[in-house]
Amino acid sequence: MRKKIVVGNWKMNLNSEKAYKLLENLESISFPNDVEVIIAPPSIYLDSFSKAKKLFISSQDVSSNDNGAYTGEFSAEMLSSLNLKYSIIGHSERRQYHGEGEDLICKKARQLLKYNISPIYCCGESLENRKSKNHFQVVKSQLSRLLNEFRGSDFQNLIIAYEPVWAIGTGLTAQPSDAQNMHLFIRQLIDDKFGLEIAQSVPILYGGSCKPSNSKELFSMNDIDGGLIGGASLDADSFSTIINSF
Ligand code: PEP
Repeated sequence: MRKKIVVGNWKMNLNSEKAYKLLENLESISFPNDVEVIIAPPSIYLDSFSKAKKLFISSQDVSSNDNGAYTGEFSAEMLSSLNLKYSIIGHSERRQYHGEGEDLICKKARQLLKYNISPIYCCGESLENRKSKNHFQVVKSQLSRLLNEFRGSDFQNLIIAYEPVWAIGTGLTAQPSDAQNMHLFIRQLIDDKFGLEIAQSVPILYGGSCKPSNSKELFSMNDIDGGLIGGASLDADSFSTIINSF
């Protein structure tokens, strides 16, 4: 049975007062035991957030380098020294605003796996890709280096987040059946490479305007194991409704 996971990606939102208040709020809410709830706050809060009792904490990114003269970056080793177990990588905003591509994202994945941190590896097509019916091909190419250069055992420590770029922060959501088709496609790619057992064990999350009004239907799909939530994770009530919608 795969883990059910909900990740709140706070992006570059909330000053420290608001961030700690929201964390405190979320820590006081009761969630189903079988759902892993992960918060990815801005990195400036990671050290103190790492002491959270119920919630798991993730970074929103990580350096592809070990340590050294890389101003502004932080390493997987540093995340590990805070006992963090997750890091988002390859988010479409990193791809779009920082020019990140598969080569760099896979280096980040390697750094994280070296320190036993699970990469939450994002992929997803643009609206243009979908309109021209290239979406499966685009997602396949975003995952091909990961599938070809990593081992099955790495996949047992990895989470995939399918986030159609046209649905992120836009209010547009993929139809649950369209999202399911893509999740199944991704699982089949893993199956083709590493076999059914590993494919069945990898959590695949949906992200893109997931909110209380659509999370239940999305999470009811066979291959959707939870969500990567942006905007709706900034409100304790909305986020807790999403977590309780499995
Ligand atoms: C995201 O940024 O990962 C995301 C899914 O954002 P939103 O939920 O706001 O669309």
